[in-house]
Amino acid sequence: MDEGEILEISENPGSPCAIRNPAGLSKGRIEDNAYANALAQFDKAVSHLHLKHGVMDMLRCPKRELSVNFPVMMDSGDIRIFRGYRVHHSVVKGPTKGGIRYSPNVTLDEVRALAMWMTWKCALMNLPYGGAKGGVIVNPKELSTRELERLTRRYATEISVLMGPESDIPAPDVGTNPQVMAWIMDTYSMHRGFSVPAVVTGKPVEIGGSLGRTEATGRGVGFCILEALKLRGISPENATVAIQGFGNVGSVTARMAHELGMKVVAISSSKGGLYKPDGIDPRMVTRHLERGGSVTDFPGPDSISNEDLLTLDCDVVIAAAIENQITSQNADRIKARIVAEGANGPTTPEADEILDEKGAFIIPDILCNAGGVIVSYLEWVQDLQSFFWPVDEINRKLQYLMAKAFESVIEATKQFKVSNREAAQILAIQRISDAILIRGIYP
Ligand code: GLU
Repeated sequence: MDEGEILEISENPGSPCAIRNPAGLSKGRIEDNAYANALAQFDKAVSHLHLKHGVMDMLRCPKRELSVNFPVMMDSGDIRIFRGYRVHHSVVKGPTKGGIRYSPNVTLDEVRALAMWMTWKCALMNLPYGGAKGGVIVNPKELSTRELERLTRRYATEISVLMGPESDIPAPDVGTNPQVMAWIMDTYSMHRGFSVPAVVTGKPVEIGGSLGRTEATGRGVGFCILEALKLRGISPENATVAIQGFGNVGSVTARMAHELGMKVVAISSSKGGLYKPDGIDPRMVTRHLERGGSVTDFPGPDSISNEDLLTLDCDVVIAAAIENQITSQNADRIKARIVAEGANGPTTPEADEILDEKGAFIIPDILCNAGGVIVSYLEWVQDLQSFFWPVDEINRKLQYLMAKAFESVIEATKQFKVSNREAAQILAIQRISDAILIRGIYP
């Protein structure tokens, strides 16, 4: 595509959803734009389906987008204005579901992409949800706990026009955690005059959270890796693993991989990483973090950059940080046989092509990291029925849903002769399209 060119791909020229490059970005920057990447993936997947053009247009753009600018009283007495978003991509299958991200790099296009991926993820897992995502442009590490609470309560109030246990159910994402969810649940409940635990998931267990939710995403990633190793004929005891991102997802997967006998040769945080060819014990790193240390000052292993970690010669590389980490710039240097997407959107469409050509087995984000939203769904169901299951019941249900989805993706790769990502998206998009047409176009 030429610089700034906007390519119409629809039979409905002029439709706001029909443009390939909605932000009018120049070629050099398209790969950085998560929404442009999500649309490019979508276009590739739908080329294997016979969807009505109107349905395709409908799925290319979000159902609704809310931008809010809101004030927060800082500890200093100053008033600072923050910007936040909540985007609903699709409401066809049920209430919208998706996390809230606190990061200085949040953009509306990023939130649009993440909301779209949530629609596909929920559809692939057969959860009765549409996709949503929220974000606030803020570095949570620069705020005091009291400031973070005030920001969260105000943002929750601003998006309460969309949020509700039957309409839109947030959850944690990058930069947010169970405490932030507790503040959202409390704020919403105060406005209603009674407790509404089902309005958010990923809450602390004490207020209606689910056992196993904190570990769910990482466990799901670990489960997918086991399945992929099986398909590739590699036994876990012989597998070497490098993990980018040691947050809620990467740290759990690292410990699981270690317990299953895999050798964790590298891990990293946003500040940098550690490399030890004969293996790092992730439990020791977790203990070090709990004592106030950081990944980069853990004693022993050599240091490694995030960039070099991705290109290590190992069996599995887990991208569990943020989007756009494996790009046209580094994909040809990736040596891992299996790429597990613990994060959303870590691989760009350009990189996908390079990795596919090399024969790498990509476990796509909407499959690989779906454990989080699966247990979010189980949490929501438990809250609605006010009856809670033991952790082994949760993990059994999680594993069952992940296994079924993994199998269906592999099946679809054979049926459509496509990559794992295309197969996963094809299944998801077909289900949403069917739901749209069965419901009919109102009025
Ligand atoms: N933020 C997580 C994701 O990207 C979890 C979403 C949820 O549980 O609703 O899947």
